[in-house]
Amino acid sequence: MIVDKVRALAETKRTAMVKMLRDLIALGGDTGDEGARANRIREEMQLLGYDRTQIDGMGNVLGYIGNGARLVAFDGHIDTTGPGDMDRWTLDPKQGAQRDGYVFGRGASDQLGGLVAAVYAGSIMRELDLLQGVTLLVTGTVQEEDCDGGCWQYIVRESGIRPEFVLLTEPTDGKVVRGQRGRMDIKVTTRGLSAHGSAPDRGKNAIYLMAPILQDLEALNASLRGDSFLGPGSLAVSEIFFSSPSRNSVADSCSISIDRRLTLGESREVALAQVRELPSVARSGAEVEVYTYDHPSYKGYPLKQESFFPTWLMEESEPCVSAAARAYEAVFGAKTEVGKWIFSTNGVGIAGTFGIPCVGFGPGREAEAHAPDEKVAIDELVTAAALYALLPREYLAGSQ
Ligand SMILES: [Zn+2]
Repeated sequence: MIVDKVRALAETKRTAMVKMLRDLIALGGDTGDEGARANRIREEMQLLGYDRTQIDGMGNVLGYIGNGARLVAFDGHIDTTGPGDMDRWTLDPKQGAQRDGYVFGRGASDQLGGLVAAVYAGSIMRELDLLQGVTLLVTGTVQEEDCDGGCWQYIVRESGIRPEFVLLTEPTDGKVVRGQRGRMDIKVTTRGLSAHGSAPDRGKNAIYLMAPILQDLEALNASLRGDSFLGPGSLAVSEIFFSSPSRNSVADSCSISIDRRLTLGESREVALAQVRELPSVARSGAEVEVYTYDHPSYKGYPLKQESFFPTWLMEESEPCVSAAARAYEAVFGAKTEVGKWIFSTNGVGIAGTFGIPCVGFGPGREAEAHAPDEKVAIDELVTAAALYALLPREYLAGSQ
């Protein structure tokens, strides 16, 4: 049985995968500073016999293996967030420590572990002749943490690459995933009139104008409706800013940021209109707009786009989703729950913007992303690599 061969071969890659993962964690690679990691991944791809490797103009690392007519991609973002409060870590987040069957550190679960398993899956596929009819593209992508999907805007639009489907290797708590809510970053600004703080009646206080808006937003969040699978949309006020001539003045402007999560059927326009139509917003004449993400990549590519990241959801019958479920069953000997992500991934660009089918499966736990003592089970690297190696074959069998 091919699955036994794949599992056995994946097992022999265990030590090499752990080494690569520990190296990637130790190299560091906060969003916008992923160059060292990209180079390390490219070197590993070359050692493993990838046919072609490249670091593109944005800084994404691309490795091709096989020369079949059907292009399929495995994607993992290679940027990570900072460690947060260091006192909450029991092990150094930048060391890639190995203990009790786990690798610890920032990025272990979100999501360098999945990327490592994807790179090794390519090598397993070559050794076991699983590349027939397929070209596999493994992408190590940048700037996902701040601008999910932005890297794939580059890959699709600038490089003209369009795989038949993309496997997203972010952590999935051991299940196959077929969608997520979208999101957008909204800014609301009130404008007042400054005056001396000793005579507040002469001015118009922009912070007071914001107060009823905050209350209306809290109520709006509670009223948002849901999709039966993806759940309700949500909003959270995440930041507040002000401007004032001094501590002894009436504030002349106030702005807030809203993290709006969009469920199925909630468009950009609907979400903006909901805020604009709040009585407090209309009364105060507050401005409501979508933020723009505007940061160059580590290679200097100017990534600039509106901070709107569309919802995506695949049917369970979508060929890449059903293929992933079959590959799961082959590896684990049991059926998978087909679930969703709570957080956001590059799927917002790949599936949400470009309509390229996506499916998710990755080692690690979603709840550990961005949290202290993030870790990934080494056993899960092995099983993920095996599942990935079987996926294109299952896909081809189910989509011809
Ligand atoms: Zn992630």
